[in-house]
Amino acid sequence: MIHSDWHIHSEYSYDAMLPLETLIARGRELGLRRFGVTDHANYNDEKFLGDLRASAENVKRAQADCPELILGVELTPIARPEFDYIAKTGTREGYVAPIQDTPYDIELAATKEELISLGVRYAIGAAHWRVDVADRANADNSLDNLIKEWYRQQMWLACDERVTILGHPWYNGRAVWYEDFSVIPHSMNMDIAAALKENGKYVECNVCMVCAGKASEKFHHQYAEFLRELFEMGIPITYGSDCHGKPTGEYRDRRGAAEKILAAAGFRDGDISELPEEILW
Ligand SMILES: [Zn+2]
Ligand SMILES: [Zn+2]
Repeated sequence: MIHSDWHIHSEYSYDAMLPLETLIARGRELGLRRFGVTDHANYNDEKFLGDLRASAENVKRAQADCPELILGVELTPIARPEFDYIAKTGTREGYVAPIQDTPYDIELAATKEELISLGVRYAIGAAHWRVDVADRANADNSLDNLIKEWYRQQMWLACDERVTILGHPWYNGRAVWYEDFSVIPHSMNMDIAAALKENGKYVECNVCMVCAGKASEKFHHQYAEFLRELFEMGIPITYGSDCHGKPTGEYRDRRGAAEKILAAAGFRDGDISELPEEILW
């Protein structure tokens, strides 16, 4: 059912350690048709943009012998005032979030033109943390507030021109709703789905959400059913291992486990999409 992987971190992500040579050798052994390298570009500072440039050069070198390899990027919403501060000073250091009553506007680390000039051919846009408040650790992190903020970020990503794939919808590192996916209002999912469809976006089936990570078995099945509902509305679904190569520097193939959960929700061979040439930048 799954023939390509569109979400892989190489050793050029700050939190990953997968060498490209290892990925290529293993990807070929597994018969993957395409593997997309999507290193993190979280902020518009030299640390992240430098990592992205290094990742791009590394992928370009490897592509000479491996046309299956595609250069992508993973972008995460950040607060617009922080983006502006970094744009002015070049660093995140010394940033003080302005006091305001409304959530901060959202921005991503680079423009589409900048990404294309590096050779990036698609972007995963994915929410990772709250950006609506100044101090997210000490904010009111009630379930309602968290859901509201994830909804806001995902709606924004579904409408942004840089986002090819909405990455791991409803992922949150804090595992707040990983027992029961039905705490997410269905109407929110339908709003997001409508925006995705209208803007021609793909949605990711991320391995952490359907068979690995912190979620319960019940959640995995509910999540696969959520993906199936989007699929039946005409939104194409891509697969992402989100492999970081930790802790051994290896590429872990978890497609078998993911396929089992997806099959239980009605997915069949041919239902999981690849990014066609006309979609790639
Ligand atoms: Zn992510
Ligand atoms: Zn990732």
